[in-house]
Order: sequence, then structure tokens, then C-alpha cells
Amino acid sequence: MATKRDYYEVLGVAKTAAGDEIKKAYRKVAIKYHPDKNPDDPTAEDKFKEAAEAYEVLSDEQKRARYDRFGHQGVGGNGGGPNMEDIFSQFGDIFGGGGFEGFFGGGGRGQGGRRVRKGSNLRIKLKLDLEEVANGVEKKIKVKRYVACAPCSGTGAKNGTDLKDCSTCHGQGQVKRVVNTMLGQMVSSSTCPTCNGEGKVVTSKCDVCHGEGRQLQEEIIPINIPAGVAEGMQLSMNGKGNYPERGGVPGDLLIQIEEEPHEVLRRDGNNIMYEQYISFVDAALGANIEVPTIEGKVKIKVDPGTQPGKILRLRGKGIKDLNGYGRGDQLIHLNVWTPKSVTGEERELLERLRDSRNFTPNPGKNDKGFFEKVKEYFQ
Ligand SMILES: [Zn+2]
Ligand SMILES: [Zn+2]
Repeated sequence: MATKRDYYEVLGVAKTAAGDEIKKAYRKVAIKYHPDKNPDDPTAEDKFKEAAEAYEVLSDEQKRARYDRFGHQGVGGNGGGPNMEDIFSQFGDIFGGGGFEGFFGGGGRGQGGRRVRKGSNLRIKLKLDLEEVANGVEKKIKVKRYVACAPCSGTGAKNGTDLKDCSTCHGQGQVKRVVNTMLGQMVSSSTCPTCNGEGKVVTSKCDVCHGEGRQLQEEIIPINIPAGVAEGMQLSMNGKGNYPERGGVPGDLLIQIEEEPHEVLRRDGNNIMYEQYISFVDAALGANIEVPTIEGKVKIKVDPGTQPGKILRLRGKGIKDLNGYGRGDQLIHLNVWTPKSVTGEERELLERLRDSRNFTPNPGKNDKGFFEKVKEYFQ
């Protein structure tokens, strides 16, 4: 995976920048690196896309919060970012109703102004158990998605050839109109109403897809879920969404992560928390006990004279960090279990212990209280 620059750095704003500042900064960078303005600079398009990607994340409150917390991974960082089509559709918002072209004197971009249509995104929810979250997992998921109709190559035309250029726009997808105004003649262009901007008209429809150019198909898609993802995160796979009607590029597959709670282990960030109960006999005499971890059972030693509330740490038994910064720990909270009822014989034994000197509470200065333990935990 190529390393990505920090989004704030890309736009040249502070981490605390307000929405308006981010918008302004993006506008500046986008104008500077617009590919039409930099025909001789091959890196301009990359910078332009990089800025659009940064803006897409930082302009969205939720995505920005996830980015601040988890970095690029938190916002589907392994995808390729927005494509050019997305970027230009974003401009309506940034540059006002006039769109981007207004800044450069119009003319439209490349390809005679015909739009590249993008299919709709597919959204799925994916349930992961704690072990899968901890180590990452490759899942094969079954989705129903529109793919290009094979017999007509997605054109919707019989044999893929029964197409002709639209007679209204002559294949341009756009119609130009000359309007007389006080300032002289102005040319305005709009989407061709005959072909809806497609530039082509189907003369005879494909029998298989009935002219739609696409078919619903069940597909098994393998996805690599990185370790350390969390509830609510969204991963995206470019191009695995629906193919649009009659040609274009497919949308994306958006995968929303859901965490299935574990029976006894709880997640806290990259750490795993576990409540272990021991008898007060084991607390007094010490014991070897087994505790569950995400990697199976592990033996731990309880020292003689263990006080309730003690926290033991199993290093590296937690969740792998999403950004590759090591692995969390498992924290074991030792609780001393007091029997809720006792038999006559047990009562006698306990009565005999009651007055024994060692059974009278006598905390020394090394016995940490609640405050110290909480402080230590949050260190
Ligand atoms: Zn047309
Ligand atoms: Zn077809």
C-alpha cells in the first residue's frame, strides 16, 4: 500500500480548522492543480485527486472524526480514493451552481463532454467476531450486483452493435444553444434530451437484458478485513458496486463493520478486558488458573495473598492495531468470590477462621486502593 500524506497537510490546514477553512483551502489547491490548467505537469492530476480525497474526508464530520482517531485506515484507506467523476460532481458544492468549468472559461473536459456514468454503490453490513477483529480476516461475501450484460457488452444493443449516434446531438451527448444577451451571444450547453447525454441511441434492444445493458448476478467477493477495525467503520472496494444502465463504470461496494460481542471478553480500544472470579481460598493460598483469551486458554498464576480488584496484564494478547502500531493487551480483573450460602460443615470451618489474626482486614501502605488502581489503569 502506498503511503498517503496526512489529509490536513495535503490541504495545508491545521488539525483544528473549521469547515469553512477546509472548503476554502480545498478550493485553492483544486484550482492550482486542476489537470486542464496543468497539461504539462503529469503529477498535477495526482495532487488534484489527493486534494479531493482529503476534502471528501475532512468535509464530512463523521469521516473526519474517524480519520482523526484511526488515520487513513479508518476511512477506507486501502481504496483508491474518489475517481475523477466523483471529484467533478463535488464541485457543484464547492464552486457554486456554475460548476468548475466557469473558472477556466468552459469547454468541458476531454471526450467531447460525454459523461461517464457511475453505477450505484452497494452497501452491506458485515458481522465480525472478536477473534476476526483482533487478527484480521479474509471473508468471502455473497452479493447480488448488477454486472455488464455479456452478450451486448453492457451497451443494451442487440449484439452490442445495434447502436447509432444520436441524431440530435450527433454523438456529443450535449446540445449547444446560442442565446442573445445584452453582452452579446452566449453559448450554453446542456445534456441532450434525446439520448440523456449518452451520445448513442439503441436501434434494436439486446434480448438478454432487454436494453438495460446489465444483469443482476450473484457473486462471491473476497475481502481482506484488516485487524483492528471497529463497529461502524466503513471499508470500500472500488468498482465492486452496481454497473450502471447501458455502459459506464461500476459503483463501489461499501462494507460496514459490525462487531459481534464476545461471550466473556470485552473490547476496550485495542485491549481486551476479562473478569475473573477466584475463591477467597485461592486468593489467600495462591493458585494456577486458566483464563480465556482470543487465542484460546492461557494459564496464569495467582499469587498468595492476592487482594480483590487486582489487575493482571497479559501483554500482546489484545487486538492488533489498525495502523500497525503493535498489539493491545488483555487485562484480567481478579474478583474474589464470596459464597452466597454455606453448608454446616463449611460454616464451622469459617467460624474457626473468623477470629484468626490473618483474617482481620489490615491493609498496609502497599495495598493499592481504588484511586491508585484507576490512575494506574489510565496511565
Ligand atoms: Zn443525443
Ligand atoms: Zn444485453
